[in-house]
Amino acid sequence: MKKRNNKKNDVRLIKFTREGDLPPAAISLANTLYNKTGKWRSVTPVIDRDKCISCMICWKFCPDAAIKIVGGAPHIDLDYCKGCAICVEECPVKAIIAKEEKK
Ligand code: SF4
Ligand code: SF4
Repeated sequence: MKKRNNKKNDVRLIKFTREGDLPPAAISLANTLYNKTGKWRSVTPVIDRDKCISCMICWKFCPDAAIKIVGGAPHIDLDYCKGCAICVEECPVKAIIAKEEKK
C-alpha cells in the first residue's frame, strides 16, 4: 500500500473479535433483514480492493446492514443495498465509488 501524508487518511485497522468489542453504532438490523431494498438503488457502490484497508467503517455505517464481512473484507449484498452512498462518504481512503446504474 502507498504511504499517505494526509493525516485524515491515517486510519488504524480495527478488528472486532467479540460482540462486546463492537463500538456503539447506528446499525439497524430489524427491517433491513426482511426488506430487500436493492430495487431502490440508482447508484451501485463498488469497492476498489487495492485501496481498501479493511477498516470496516463502511460496515459500521451502512444503514441497511448490506455490507457483510467475508474473509476479513467487506462485501456488498446488492439485494439489500439501496444505494444511499453513505459508505462512499464514510470510507476514509475513498475505496468505494458510486457507479450510476444503467436503466
Ligand atoms: S450504498 Fe453503501 S451504505 Fe448505502 S445501503 Fe448500499 S452498501 Fe449500505
Ligand atoms: S471499503 Fe473503505 S470503509 Fe470499507 S473496509 Fe475498505 S477501507 Fe474501510
